[in-house]
Order: sequence, then C-alpha cells, then structure tokens
Amino acid sequence: MLRIKKVATKPSKPEKLDVQGLRAPLELRRHPTARRLTLRVSRSRRAVILTMPKRCSLDEAGSFLYRHLDWVHNCIDEIPDPVIFEHGALVPLRGVIHKLSFIGAKRVDEIVTPVPGGADNATPELLVSGRGEHAPRRFRDWMVDQSRNDLGKRVRHHAENLSLRPKRFTIRDQSTRWGSCSSSGCLSFSWRLIMAPPVVLDYLAAHEVAHLAEMNHGARFWQLVERTMPRMNEAKDWLRREGMDLHRYGAGNRYGQSWRVLFCQPQIARADRCPGLLMGRCRRLGCCWLCYPYFYWQSRA
Ligand SMILES: [Zn+2]
Repeated sequence: MLRIKKVATKPSKPEKLDVQGLRAPLELRRHPTARRLTLRVSRSRRAVILTMPKRCSLDEAGSFLYRHLDWVHNCIDEIPDPVIFEHGALVPLRGVIHKLSFIGAKRVDEIVTPVPGGADNATPELLVSGRGEHAPRRFRDWMVDQSRNDLGKRVRHHAENLSLRPKRFTIRDQSTRWGSCSSSGCLSFSWRLIMAPPVVLDYLAAHEVAHLAEMNHGARFWQLVERTMPRMNEAKDWLRREGMDLHRYGAGNRYGQSWRVLFCQPQIARADRCPGLLMGRCRRLGCCWLCYPYFYWQSRA
C-alpha cells in the first residue's frame, strides 16, 4: 500500500513530500497565484511536478497526488527509456543514428572521430577517445561544440537574410524550449538540436532570429520566418512528432551546467566551465561581471 509521509522541514527549506511507490522524482512548487493543485509529468526530465496554491497544505497535496497516481504512472510508462552516453549506445547526430565507441585513452587529435557507415549500410560510428570514465563528458562537450558551430552559422545566415543583429547567443540544456529570444536581443538554444535533422536546427535558428523583429507569434512573425526558412513547416512537423525524443539522450550523464558563448566576438567564442576561483557560487564562465574578465582572458589564451 502506498504511504505518504510529510517530511518536516525548516521554514527556509523547500517543502518536501515523500511519496512511497511513486516511480519518478517529485518536484513540489508553491505558486502564489495558483488557484488549484495541478499535476504534470515532464517527459524531458522524467519527473512529476505538483504545483500548489499558496495556502494548500502538504496533506492536501499528498492526497491529490495519491488520487491521480494511476494517471501519473501511465504517463511515466509512456516516456521512452533514457539513452545514456556509453559504449555501444545509439545516438542521433544531425538526424542520423550513430553508434558510440569509447576507444580508450588513445592519443588521437580529435576527441570524437566520425566514421561513415560505408557501402554496406553499416551504422556510422563516433569514436570517442579518452579514459572510459571521462568519455561520456567528453562526448557531450563535443556535441555542444558541434551544436554551437552549426547554430552559429545558421543564426548568422538568417540574421543577414533579414537584416537583423542578435547581440549574442548561448547554448544551454533547456528542457522546456528549443530556443528563446530575450527583449535585449540575446538568443539561446538547446544543444540537443544537433541530434535533430539539419532542417530542424536551421528552422529554430530562423525562428529565434525572426523574434528580434517580432516578439510574438503573429502573422508578420511567421511571414518573416518563412521568408528566410521556406522549409519551416517540414521542421515544425518533425519537432511535433519527434522533438521530445531528443530529451532521452544523455539524460543519465547530465551534469547540470549551461554554456555561454559570445556571438558578437566569434573569435573568442568558446565555452568552458567557471573554475569557481573568482566567485564561489558562480558555475558558468562569463555568467557574471566578476568572472567575465576571466572568461575573456581564458578565451584568448
Ligand atoms: Zn517563438
């Protein structure tokens, strides 16, 4: 039988509900303007998200979750199994499935060497060098680099086409959106787009660039996107059908960081992790004015 236990927490700590039998992590959110309890299953994070109104008790939230547990488990069962980056895993790159081969600490120039499938229709391979324990991270970093390169080219292409100028762009591991555009002209994209067919990455670049002129999804916005990206409907269909599947890959190797690059100075565009030397709590290079000078210096080195 399922038991719900309230976990005592200090007022300053986040509230917690320990629900035995729940087959996914639970995220509890208290929202000041929420009028009712809502339950959501995030396919990208494989997590259950329970949003509570301000005055709702944990007991109430727990029994609400308990009442809908069958629905929650049905949703979880529908989520495809995650694929972690390991030797032998099948991972898409630019829309083509590749087999990952961790080749050990061989001294090769490239972190990842793509090997085409050849005439016998064999699965193409990605040879990842480096010691086994580091290979998943090295591979993921390489995928982020590939994503940054491809997106950089397409963003520049569409920006020129539409005579627009993004301030900069960043590559992140966003789970809720593929891209975004801020009112200050900064674009941001999910690194996972490198796994989708190139037309999809291209469409996302066009979409976010068009937001520099139209910060909405009105008719004028879609006209702009179509002008620079005539195959947008093909890409939108693919995203609707297959987009969520991209979140399966590398989920088990997630190490929760985001990447930032400067668009306006491509010669120093290089993402790295903040060494934490300058500010204890800072996790990203270039994410604050304190570590930005270090980022700049490091990028030029
Ligand atoms: Zn949009």
